Amino acid sequence: MGDYAQPLPVPDPDSAPFWAACREHRLVLQKCAACGAVRYPPGPRCPRCRAREAVWIEAAGRGRVYSWIVVNHPVPKEVYAAEVPYVVALIELDEGVRMASNIVGCAPSAVRGDLRVEVVFDDVAPGTTLPRFKPAPDETR
Ligand SMILES: [Zn+2]
Repeated sequence: MGDYAQPLPVPDPDSAPFWAACREHRLVLQKCAACGAVRYPPGPRCPRCRAREAVWIEAAGRGRVYSWIVVNHPVPKEVYAAEVPYVVALIELDEGVRMASNIVGCAPSAVRGDLRVEVVFDDVAPGTTLPRFKPAPDETR
C-alpha cells in the first residue's frame, strides 16, 4: 500500500455501498426489491423491470472465469511496467452477474474458461480495496 500508481475506482452514489463493503472485505450486490433480479454494476434502476428500489445482498464471492485476456504490453508503460503479465477477466459470479476483475494467485497460463475462482480483497490504497479473484481451493489440488 502507498505506492499504488494505477487508476482507482471513483465511487458514485450508486456504487458507494459496493466500495464501502469491499473495504470491509465483503462482496455485495444489488438485488431488485420488485422482481428479485441481482445486478452488477450498481445502478439506479433494475435493468429487467426498471424499478428503483433495491437491497444489498452478500455475495458468496465465488464464480467461474467467463472470459479473460493476458496483458503483456504495459499501457501506459510507466504505470503498468511492473505488473505485466497480468490477467483481466470477466468473472461470472454464482449469483449470475458478470464482474470484470483480475485473476491473481496463479500463473496467467493457468487461467482457463470455467476455472472456479473465489474473491480476495486487495487493499491497494488508503480507503480503497479492490475485489480480485484467485483459483478456488478445489482447483489448486
Ligand atoms: Zn427488477
